[in-house]
Amino acid sequence: MSAYDINNIFAKILRGEIPSHRVYEDDATIAFMDVMPQAEGHMLVVPKAPSRNLLDADTASLPALITAVQKIAVAAKDAFDADGVTIMQFNEAPAGQSVFHLHFHVIPRRDGVPLKP
Ligand code: IMP
Repeated sequence: MSAYDINNIFAKILRGEIPSHRVYEDDATIAFMDVMPQAEGHMLVVPKAPSRNLLDADTASLPALITAVQKIAVAAKDAFDADGVTIMQFNEAPAGQSVFHLHFHVIPRRDGVPLKP
């Protein structure tokens, strides 16, 4: 697997070097709005610790991360009056990953509204 690049976009967001619309932060995690949302309220949940994706993440960090994902999904469903929530996570380019810092997509979903491509 390729190495972690400290200059990926989410690392720069974590360091405050480029702006983001931050909606959540705890000791280990931040969440911010996706710049190209596939549905209203599309957010990204990002651990502060550097890992390229789920495949190289520190196992001990995962309970806190998935707890944050759940918290944000519940809040997003309520805030956007959604009927459900899609949670997506991609590992390496062939699987759809384009930013190489671990992240989960949290996307509120409405009945009958497909995701934008
Ligand atoms: P991936 O395909 O799972 O790696 O998704 C990366 C996501 O990051 C895409 O949904 C992009 O729209 C999103 N994204 C890329 N750059 C930024 C940014 O600067 N701020 C917020 N979201 C971004």
